[in-house]
Amino acid sequence: FYLMSPIQQVVGAITQYQTGAAALARIQEALRLPAEPAARPAPLPAPDAEPAALAFDDVRFRYADDLPYVHHGVTFEVPARGMTAFVGPSGAGKTTVFSLIERFYDPEAGVITVDGCDVTEWELAELRSAIGYVEQDAPVLSGSLRDNLLLGNPEAGENDVARVLKTTRLDGLVAKLPQGLQTLVGHRGTKLSGGERQRVAIARALLRRPRLLLLDEATSQLDAVNEAALRDTVADVSRTTTVLVVAHRLSTVTMADRIVVMDAGRVRAVGTHRELVAADPLYAELAATQFLASDQNGDQKG
Ligand code: ADP
Ligand code: MG
Repeated sequence: FYLMSPIQQVVGAITQYQTGAAALARIQEALRLPAEPAARPAPLPAPDAEPAALAFDDVRFRYADDLPYVHHGVTFEVPARGMTAFVGPSGAGKTTVFSLIERFYDPEAGVITVDGCDVTEWELAELRSAIGYVEQDAPVLSGSLRDNLLLGNPEAGENDVARVLKTTRLDGLVAKLPQGLQTLVGHRGTKLSGGERQRVAIARALLRRPRLLLLDEATSQLDAVNEAALRDTVADVSRTTTVLVVAHRLSTVTMADRIVVMDAGRVRAVGTHRELVAADPLYAELAATQFLASDQNGDQKG
């Protein structure tokens, strides 16, 4: 038994983080992607960097040659700024869209462009520095709330931290904690509720000033306060950044500028909530039965 210094806690937190999905993705990436120049720290986008546009053109993808296709020719366009929601049944290929944008994998056929440039022609570090990726049920790690935020950008100043806390509506929570940002959030953030954890993960991503924010919405039920905070956060961020959300919540999809309905590896419709309820029976059914409604008792800690 020994006491860990704050530095050791942060190192431990980073190590835990890397043993998760990101590390797995890096291994898969090493196996499947062409060799890249030696890794160097990902630079941050310039403070005045413009939001990025994005397009998929007839993307075909499978995770391995002996596995079925996950994307059978996926095509959509996302202009710079605004919010695009991806919806569809489990297994439709929504999260895979994000993995391909990040280049954890490359498509077998078709082209993905960011700002009109094929992602395979971007320098990998530069591409990833432009993207903030909030994974589904994103963990908050051990250490303090501040440690967890600064993982996104260790050089962030107090003003930057205050700004992202405000954007994610965490400023109220922090003000209520006796130790504020120094509060230890506990092993893997278990002192925070699921909704608070996701907002901390978004705040961390926003500290990097991403040009493109990818948010894989938590599937757990959120209490009304967290649900409203998340909705308002996404609305704010999408005014200045391109935001893509894999959405599980009606309150998210109804405010999207456009909704991409995916099913079994294809895009079956694109439109607004109102248009799709009228035009697409699968969407209408999802809206009626699958999307999570707010649940006062749902947002459990741990
Ligand atoms: P969604 O997010 O819409 O639920 P995903 O993109 O996560 O769907 O997954 C689409 C399909 O790809 C599913 O059949 C899933 O099992 C499969 N899949 C996802 N990730 C992997 C992986 N790393 N290796 C193999 N198959 C995977
Ligand atoms: Mg998913």
